[in-house]
Amino acid sequence: MEDSLIKKIWDDVLVILKDTIVATTYETWIVPLVPHSFEDNCFCALSGQNLAVQILQKNKKEISKALSQITGQDVNFKVIYDEDLHKQLEKEKQKAKKEEEKEFIKNLENRITSSKYDGLKQMQSSCNLNLKYKFDNFVVGSNNKFAHAVAVAVAKDPGKQYNPLFIYGGSGLGKTHLLQAIGHDILFNKPKLKVKYVKAEEFINDLVNSLAKGMDKAGDKNKKMNEFRNKYRTVDVLLIDDIQLIEGKARTEEEMFNTFESLHNSGKQIVFTSDRSPDKFENTPDRLKTRFQMGLLADIQVPDIETRMAILTKLANDNNIKMPSDVIEFLASVYNKNIRELEGAFNTVSAYTSINEIPLNIDNVKKIIGYSEKRKNVTVEGIIDIVASFYNVSVDDIKSTNRAAKTAFARQTAIYLAKEMTNESFPYIGSCFNRKHTTIMYSHQKVKTDINIDKHLADDIKALTEKINM
Ligand code: ADP
Ligand code: MG
Repeated sequence: MEDSLIKKIWDDVLVILKDTIVATTYETWIVPLVPHSFEDNCFCALSGQNLAVQILQKNKKEISKALSQITGQDVNFKVIYDEDLHKQLEKEKQKAKKEEEKEFIKNLENRITSSKYDGLKQMQSSCNLNLKYKFDNFVVGSNNKFAHAVAVAVAKDPGKQYNPLFIYGGSGLGKTHLLQAIGHDILFNKPKLKVKYVKAEEFINDLVNSLAKGMDKAGDKNKKMNEFRNKYRTVDVLLIDDIQLIEGKARTEEEMFNTFESLHNSGKQIVFTSDRSPDKFENTPDRLKTRFQMGLLADIQVPDIETRMAILTKLANDNNIKMPSDVIEFLASVYNKNIRELEGAFNTVSAYTSINEIPLNIDNVKKIIGYSEKRKNVTVEGIIDIVASFYNVSVDDIKSTNRAAKTAFARQTAIYLAKEMTNESFPYIGSCFNRKHTTIMYSHQKVKTDINIDKHLADDIKALTEKINM
């Protein structure tokens, strides 16, 4: 059928749908559709949004009905995801994002008259402050309540109460998010202040470059270093991400100490994030360590299941995705240590189910994320406990050099199960058993071969696997 006719039919259908379909669905998912073909009673439209296929599933009947009404025959309706359209859409989105950022800067510009504006603009762009990382979209739970509260307090009154603020916690738990949220908040509410966000890695590279450049020409040495110092010492708020990376780098530590002293003495705010608390910085000079500790330490813990569910619910709402509550609970229970991974799983699952037009339910989600029951909550230590009691030997013996046949056998079995049933590396498993990773590799390989010839061992492994999974 001719394209112009297909388009005309679709235009008429849109008129009907506008009144029969919920406005948000209509605007978001139906209006952007591009009518494509009409053959064998099947009307096909393209979408550049991969979620449209899934979302419009439940409006199929209404759309088919409208099509039948216009064409006077029974019509099936189908949406197909189109990569080219998607790319085009992405381009438009990028453009809109740039516009949004421009708007953001412009708003600031209106409020700032002095030359400070340049500094702010620079901060927003050159420091890669991600607009996603704001207080508004940070879900507060018992695990991060304290860190969140003090971050808000610091943003409200920088340099006054908690200086420095030292936020620490495991990977993917929201440290960078909080740190940048402080930056954004100050940028918005105290636009006269000069704020700088820097990853410790950048600080190190910057220092190395300044030192290296200074070497080229003897006379330049001071100039380059002065530039470096000016950059970090002339701000009102310095936000340093992942400070643990400078540990043991003596020259950087010295420069960080001097930067700290200079800022702190003039009442400027400093905020650090780190994957560990200051007392775990083993190779850092005490004078810098005590500076880390002299303000306020705030840790972020692993979020509890309610907080993880709240984060998923927020993601689903923000992305217009209907994720059933049992799926939310399931994902939240599997990804229980790292919010970055939780987000990653959410993205994979929602994209996959929509592209492949399959329902978003637990069975499908399990397949998509490659979930196997056996890996749930199984730890090396847990395995050692169970194997020890199964063979009636002690945990200490398993971890010791004891070579008694019974102990050695239990140990090898535990090593094998640890490798098979967790995602841990050989070196990590080695550390749990007080052994080199090559020993662990050898034991694992040995049991793997023995299972095939030793029925007894195979039965033990089966029984133990069941116990461990219980
Ligand atoms: P870290 O710096 O601790 O490794 P990030 O700040 O990069 O972790 O967080 C990882 C991801 O999880 C980010 O996308 C972040 O937005 C998200 N995230 C972490 N904590 C929260 C929270 N409490 N609420 C909403 N999103 C969060
Ligand atoms: Mg981070």
